Amino acid sequence: MFELTEEQQAALDSFRRFAQKRLRPAGDLYEKAGRPPSREETIALFREIEPFGVLGALVADGDGGSGIGMVTLALLVEEIARNWLGFAFTVSIQAAGAGLVSALGTPEQKARLLPGILRGDVIPCMGISEPEVGSNVAEARTRAVEDGHTFVVSGQKLWISNGDIADFVIAVARTGERELSYVIVEREAHGFATRPIAKMALHSTYTSEVFIDGARVPKANLLGERGKALKQTVKLFERPRTLLCMCAVGVAQDALEQAVEYAKARRQHGKPIAGHQTIQNYLAEMATGIHAARLLGLRAASMIDRDQRCDMEAAMAKYFGPEMAVRATSAALQIHGGFGVTEEYRVSRLFREARIIPIPDGTTEIQKLIIGRALTGVNAFN
Ligand SMILES: Cc1cc2nc3c(=O)[nH]c(=O)nc-3n(C[C@H](O)[C@H](O)[C@H](O)COP(=O)(O)OP(=O)(O)OC[C@H]3O[C@@H](n4cnc5c(N)ncnc54)[C@H](O)[C@@H]3O)c2cc1C
Repeated sequence: MFELTEEQQAALDSFRRFAQKRLRPAGDLYEKAGRPPSREETIALFREIEPFGVLGALVADGDGGSGIGMVTLALLVEEIARNWLGFAFTVSIQAAGAGLVSALGTPEQKARLLPGILRGDVIPCMGISEPEVGSNVAEARTRAVEDGHTFVVSGQKLWISNGDIADFVIAVARTGERELSYVIVEREAHGFATRPIAKMALHSTYTSEVFIDGARVPKANLLGERGKALKQTVKLFERPRTLLCMCAVGVAQDALEQAVEYAKARRQHGKPIAGHQTIQNYLAEMATGIHAARLLGLRAASMIDRDQRCDMEAAMAKYFGPEMAVRATSAALQIHGGFGVTEEYRVSRLFREARIIPIPDGTTEIQKLIIGRALTGVNAFN
């Protein structure tokens, strides 16, 4: 079902080599240092991956993108995550941001923002969540109050990926009592402040608080139709959810490879532990789960490429992939025994990292509600 074209396979092979050689050691360095790459370092890394078409994958040729599409992007994101999950988050936001501006932007917005996003030196972030608003986006409190030709935007956004290095935030804001819209708030022109959030893992990617305090934003910075943010969010979440599934596949694949290698080398009871049935059970469950999640992710990706609605398929991928990665990284750690909990072995880091993926872009619980709603037609959210 997912036979790659010769071109796709060649692109994937060469990217795989690049990711192993360049991204893996870089990720290890930043994780060890406990900090993300600076803005300048991130831009330099974006420049290195740009020739593979990653950043412009969801942007059509006409808008300056590579147009390689969602399936190829999904496979490339898996390769990044297999070597450096933190950077897979950073890249996914950049690529999804480019796709969002391309899909919803006016010709002026596209001309002004897209070239920089695609080069990697203009960085967007997505501001949906707030301190009091997580799973229920409809309750967003950030306000964009009309004043002549401008909106005056005020509010706080929380958990914003790439926030600290972002040039602009695409903020979900209330443009009327019952109206949610996307507003582009630019750091330099309109002003917003950010603060990094310390996490239990994924130290090499920014997760930030964003404070917008009376920013005067021209009405021309409305992204997409006024009052349609919720509707657009439902559709546009399909992409990041699918990419997060592929992040989960990548990190689980990394864990599986570590576990196989360790199981073949470690001897107990007179033979390599790989020769014990229970260990093979673990490995078989991991490998099967990874394969299943990859297929779910690629299924949603191919529907996105064909412009088919796939909120249920993307929800299945986002539910199953991250939960699978939590189980797989836990099994990999178990296979390593005591060594698994040390920093000397990679699996302890992968275990902590995987645990984060079921939360962003709609938790596992929310994905199941989306699937249930699609199956029954009954909304069980409230
Ligand atoms: C690393 C990371 C990166 C992120 N990046 C971004 C970003 O770039 N932009 C952005 O806007 N946000 C981002 N987020 C925020 C993320 O999308 C939210 O954390 C997520 O949507 C959950 O919201 P919450 O944390 O407020 O939890 P809550 O909504 O408060 O949920 C708490 C718990 O209650 C459950 N729950 C809630 N409602 C229901 C219900 N109706 N039925 C059953 N269970 C329910 C949830 O599943 C969860 O287990 C990021 C988060 C993380 C951790």
